Amino acid sequence: MRIGAHVDPADPLAEAAARGAEAVQFFLTDPQSSKTPEPREDVERLRASEVDIYIHAPYRINVASPNNRIRIPSRKLLLTHARAAAEVGAKGLIVHGGHVGGGADLADGFVSWRKVFEYAESEGGFPLPILIENTAGGDNACARRFDDVARLWDEVGRFGAGFCLDTCHAFAGGEDLVGIVDRVKAITGRIDLIHANDSKGGFDSGQDRHDNLGSGKIDPELVVAAIRASGAPAIVETPGGVAGQSADIALLRQRSGA
Ligand SMILES: [Zn+2]
Repeated sequence: MRIGAHVDPADPLAEAAARGAEAVQFFLTDPQSSKTPEPREDVERLRASEVDIYIHAPYRINVASPNNRIRIPSRKLLLTHARAAAEVGAKGLIVHGGHVGGGADLADGFVSWRKVFEYAESEGGFPLPILIENTAGGDNACARRFDDVARLWDEVGRFGAGFCLDTCHAFAGGEDLVGIVDRVKAITGRIDLIHANDSKGGFDSGQDRHDNLGSGKIDPELVVAAIRASGAPAIVETPGGVAGQSADIALLRQRSGA
């Protein structure tokens, strides 16, 4: 069982060491921007490291948008980040499922997702797994309700899309955490990564507000159970810096016996 944290991108390996983490996730650019990632000075160290590297795509990306001035640049930016993530030896690029917004047809969002993979194939393919993450909310979201994830997978499953299960997002999005891994796997066939977060927001609140494990509304045993059942690595995206995240990692290790 490999457990890690979402960390500041300046020196991810130092952040991993400070937390005793076996995995790290970070952004390659300001997550609110649409910038192209700059080459990193620590590429060789990252590639050679024993620590598993995951890259999170910017929040600005919404490949499901009905607005082509958002959708088309999002598609291109995702491929750009995928190439930069592969460059640093990442095991996957995590991207939110996105949303189509009010008044739009969710079916169009799923088709847009298929076009992401078709576009990437026409450009030589994604150089690493793309892990689509479930979201807590989002106006007409593609990957909040698992019924919708099933429709999404009808479009992207054949391209080898991966799945990142966020426990905060699932809970706040209105999906029961009991037996969740089996329900996801029945749809996607795989869980590549767990985002192990507690939730400040209540069940089905639609609020994306992460909390430290045991401090929010989720029973930590359900988070541990999800990690164990999935067999996937886990990343905590929780507050409190080194101290807060180290405590979350310790809790997961302790309760899972890892
Ligand atoms: Zn997450």
